[in-house]
Amino acid sequence: MRTVYLDHAATTPVRPEVIDVMVNVLTEAFGNPSSGHQFGRPVRKLIEQARQQTAQAINARPQEVFFTSGGTEADNLAILGAARANANRGKHLITNTIEHHAVLDAFSHLKREGFEVTVLPVDEYGFVSIETFLKALREDTVLVSIMHANNEIGTINPIAEIGCICREQGILFHTDAVQSVGKIPVDVQALNVDLLTLTGHKIYGPKGVGALYVRGGVQIAPLVHGGGQEKAIRPGTENVTGIVALGKALEVAVEELEEESKRLAGLRDNLIQGVMDGIPNSRLNGHPTERLPHNVNFSFPGLDGQMLIQQLERKGIAASAGSACTSDSVEPSHVLRGIGLERGTALGSVRLSLGKSTTEEDIDYVIAQLKESVALLQR
Ligand SMILES: *Cc1c(COP(=O)(O)O)cnc(C)c1O
Repeated sequence: MRTVYLDHAATTPVRPEVIDVMVNVLTEAFGNPSSGHQFGRPVRKLIEQARQQTAQAINARPQEVFFTSGGTEADNLAILGAARANANRGKHLITNTIEHHAVLDAFSHLKREGFEVTVLPVDEYGFVSIETFLKALREDTVLVSIMHANNEIGTINPIAEIGCICREQGILFHTDAVQSVGKIPVDVQALNVDLLTLTGHKIYGPKGVGALYVRGGVQIAPLVHGGGQEKAIRPGTENVTGIVALGKALEVAVEELEEESKRLAGLRDNLIQGVMDGIPNSRLNGHPTERLPHNVNFSFPGLDGQMLIQQLERKGIAASAGSACTSDSVEPSHVLRGIGLERGTALGSVRLSLGKSTTEEDIDYVIAQLKESVALLQR
């Protein structure tokens, strides 16, 4: 039986070029990068090279890159760190309903510390409206966090525009770019962001490593305290293997971005067309064009998304009902509820996320299997 992995938004396999550099670090570069001797110095060099690669991938300067344990930590470091370090300037923060839980839960935590948080609604596509955003701004607003592209429905937000408004008003602006980095161009200058989150395992790097971009001059407070690594913003002996892997993964992802995103967008559009034409009453969630090249999310009325996932699994297809983090729970996805879907419709949804291994034949197979499985479950 064919196996088709369509859950690249949850995680990706580590690519061979990245495995090579990881094996090299593990076998040849065990020294502590903070050691001034012949064992430490080359390792420091490897980290600084990875910082350069990371900076280059997002058009930042190397000294603006701080390595973390992944997207979740980078989101927390950005939000908790910036809010706490700038609390003297104001205690009002803004985000929106369909962020990843790493962002939403960081803001909930800040509420308990005495911050006020405005959680903006989004429209039917998942866009934050500029008009609603402008109305939410206050004298004491210090930090705004709006994701670049949504992990469940793929919608790409007008980040540059929101960033421009924040810049004019002297408000710090964070974006979670975990899903967009390596898939569409991400340029911290063009996007007008002060803080940006990325992670390794969604771009064919390993799990457990990520980075936070912090624009020069922006103050953030650390979450953990210890040695002086990462300018004491993120102390602790560096995850050298992960950091070197992240640098490599970003370098290759950016190299092949143009060609691969075009290929994926073509496959995505075939999948959308095949399903919309072939399955009556199916609905595409997220914006039809302003969406990630590898993301598709459908609702099928009158069926349970979890059961559809199980049915697809029997055909060798791995997909996700809502986000991976909530797929054990029977609660409908907060993102699908956030774009206004009824509880039942939200529960009847699947996300299919494409990647490097996805072929045209896979897409034809998935369309055929989806038609059959949806018809079976709707009966
Ligand atoms: C996966 C993901 C995260 C979390 O990143 P981890 O490295 O798994 O902690 C954060 N935000 C978004 C949008 C994601 O898709």
